[in-house]
Amino acid sequence: MIVILEPNLGQDDQRYKAIIEHLNVYPGVQIRSHQVKGQQQSLTEIYLIGDTKPLPIDIIAELPGVERAIRISAEYRVLGRHTNDRRSANFEYNGVTFGQDTLNVFAGLCAVDTPEHVEAMMRALKENGQTCTRMGAYKPRTSPYAFQGHGANCLPYVFELAGKYGIKVVAMEVTHESHVDEIHQALHQTGNPTGVMLQIGTRNTQNFELLKSVGRQIEYPVLLKRGFGITLEESLNAAEYLASEGNSRIVFCLRGVKTHLGDPHRNLVDFAHVPVVKRLTRMPVCIDCSHSVGTRIAGTDNILDILHVTAQGIVAGANMVLVDFHPAPEKAMVDGPQALLLKELPYFLSDIAIARQAYLDRLKLNQQFLKENK
Ligand code: PEP
Ligand code: MN
Repeated sequence: MIVILEPNLGQDDQRYKAIIEHLNVYPGVQIRSHQVKGQQQSLTEIYLIGDTKPLPIDIIAELPGVERAIRISAEYRVLGRHTNDRRSANFEYNGVTFGQDTLNVFAGLCAVDTPEHVEAMMRALKENGQTCTRMGAYKPRTSPYAFQGHGANCLPYVFELAGKYGIKVVAMEVTHESHVDEIHQALHQTGNPTGVMLQIGTRNTQNFELLKSVGRQIEYPVLLKRGFGITLEESLNAAEYLASEGNSRIVFCLRGVKTHLGDPHRNLVDFAHVPVVKRLTRMPVCIDCSHSVGTRIAGTDNILDILHVTAQGIVAGANMVLVDFHPAPEKAMVDGPQALLLKELPYFLSDIAIARQAYLDRLKLNQQFLKENK
């Protein structure tokens, strides 16, 4: 059960203490409080875990300071959608809003290599009105002999250049909890010129200790990739690990799954699951068109498969796009063959705008249909 308190009713309020006292009386029920900070207000949610079936929901809902109480019907207690659950999961981070009705593009380097390439990327983003990017500093690689990323060494120049070009959020993968501290220190030392969204890669979707430690910090939002070889339910539970530890500012990223069907692409593209994840949870959904397709191959219409799948995901309501670009892909240390070129950035953004408009038109058409067929 979730007990949602009135807006801005904090944990030092007398009513909060009385509610907790009341809930403590029920045997076998554990209590966990979550603070959800929104743009205008902060919300306290109390999660009741254990045998909550016998609890008198009507009495709890009437306690002074309680806005409403919700019985949880699904497994994803924090992130799931429950009956009569009107909670929005929109969140704002460093001036950028993330939600199930917004769209943000994170174009950038798969792996940071040189300050010159980082600067060329950031400049192109600014010239095209972009305020978010991706920059890989810690790279999980299949081979131990492959380039592992510049790690903490590149963080100061990445963050300074992001600030110089007005980038507000950098998506950056972490593979160990110590990376979060390194990012925090580098941001602090450079005067917090930008923000970071911590990315958990597909190889770490079920690294439960990493999930717990990233979930315990609430400073940075998290981009969680779907695991490439596990069920969707298992990946959504991984997101719930983050949320159950306290951080529910999570974007869930589809990035294709491994199959043995002789894939023409690096992974089997799974963007048909955009509406599925939005239906099951309140998380905004990202599509990674680069790591799912993995090549610059084009259709007979000359449109790159990467652009085709991006459009497919957006037409289905995706909320974020993660995409590899590189100023000189032949020199890229990681994933050069799937990178888009800087000259393709304005074209790519225009293509996205067409797909987004198509999604908004489809929404309108659907509302019209429902109105006429009530
Ligand atoms: C990445 O985004 O750089 C990456 C390694 O992706 P994934 O974890 O989806 O393979
Ligand atoms: Mn990559």
